Amino acid sequence: MNYYSTNHKASPASLQEAVVKGLAPDKGLYMPEQIPLLPQAFFEHIGEMGLTEIAQTVAQSFFGNDIPKENLDAIVADALNFEIPLVEIEDGIYALELFHGPTFAFKDVGARFMARMLSYFVQERNQENVVVLVATSGDTGSAVANGFLGVKGIEVVVLYPSGKVSPIQEAQFTTLGQNITALEIEGTFDDCQALVKSAFMDKELTSQMFLTSANSINVARFLPQSFYYFHAYAQLARKGKAGEMVFSVPSGNLGNLTAGIFAKHMGLPVKRFIAANNRNHVFFDYLYSGQYAPHASVTTIANAMDVGNPSNFDRILDVYGRDHARIVADLSGQWHTDDTIRKTIRTVYQQTGYVLDPHAACAYRSLKDGLSPGETGIFLGTAHPAKFRETVEECLDKSVDIPPALRAFMHRKKQSQPLSSDFEEFKKTLIRLS
Ligand SMILES: *Cc1c(COP(=O)(O)O)cnc(C)c1O
Repeated sequence: MNYYSTNHKASPASLQEAVVKGLAPDKGLYMPEQIPLLPQAFFEHIGEMGLTEIAQTVAQSFFGNDIPKENLDAIVADALNFEIPLVEIEDGIYALELFHGPTFAFKDVGARFMARMLSYFVQERNQENVVVLVATSGDTGSAVANGFLGVKGIEVVVLYPSGKVSPIQEAQFTTLGQNITALEIEGTFDDCQALVKSAFMDKELTSQMFLTSANSINVARFLPQSFYYFHAYAQLARKGKAGEMVFSVPSGNLGNLTAGIFAKHMGLPVKRFIAANNRNHVFFDYLYSGQYAPHASVTTIANAMDVGNPSNFDRILDVYGRDHARIVADLSGQWHTDDTIRKTIRTVYQQTGYVLDPHAACAYRSLKDGLSPGETGIFLGTAHPAKFRETVEECLDKSVDIPPALRAFMHRKKQSQPLSSDFEEFKKTLIRLS
């Protein structure tokens, strides 16, 4: 299948090109030329299938013509090496827990899948000296570094601002070793991003190594996120509870929500979606006014959703033919203040014993306020509460259990290289690495 750009000024790309390039040359987002409809038989038997088998079937319908089945099945199985359970929180409301992967956040799904697909294409092309550059303010760095850890043929360089990421985040990408290098930049996140941008423009560097990014707009990062919507349905079907499904999605750059919309267009019987925002509610405003007015982001306690100009917005417009009426027929929005998020974490714990992270709390609240009788609500648990320990503990007035695998990161040796924000110094470091 080919991929077109949402800006329609670049020629269609093969899957390989779309994955290797990330962004289309006209700066648009790549979209698959078709959204394949899955056969009725798949939905009839989905309750008998496990996550891997479901994901392999969905992956086959998108990527089956571009990657031999055996390779694709292996990529999927290897990427999804953790559970995604659906947990009933109260009558009719379920959490889809996406945080059982290596970095305890849903971004593991996309990052692990993309790493394996990129590695496959790099080997196909006999491409040598492939370097993935990532500038991070925390979460992306950990998902990408862990996603690519030990993946053949690819070196990863993570740039992060010294002293500006949380200790647990830092430990998740500075203690890995192998093909992961962490550069601790004396500067801000913007300085890190500027270094990455300059590297892509530098003729000498790009002639010596093949530089690419693991950006969240990459089709290989966002499309695999559709797998778990089917898996949620399968788990409900097994319980005989799959009624009118409503998914509530904690939304920042809208990649997760877009993947859900794709699942619905592939035939998954989703009644509707709720986009849950924090105080950065540019998407909510669009849904209710039809006007899109991006702005600078504000800081909240659900900080992975602090996005003022969501990068996947154009994909949603594109799927619905830029028709606002069609969009609001499938999607509604809600947004919550930090105060409401805190209260929700506290109340849900008191009433059910379930511990929400601030992002999931936003999505839970949106369901609770927006669910109609007869609907089954599923909110996406995008991060383990221990990742936002300070905030959650403050709400609960008790300590949060840290999973041993998360704690283990903290005990490993930090191996980052301190570096100034001077480009020439960064360039020398890159050349030495490759
Ligand atoms: C990235 C992230 C989000 C936002 O997901 P998008 O796909 O960008 O909308 C929500 N919650 C957590 C914990 C995240 O890390």
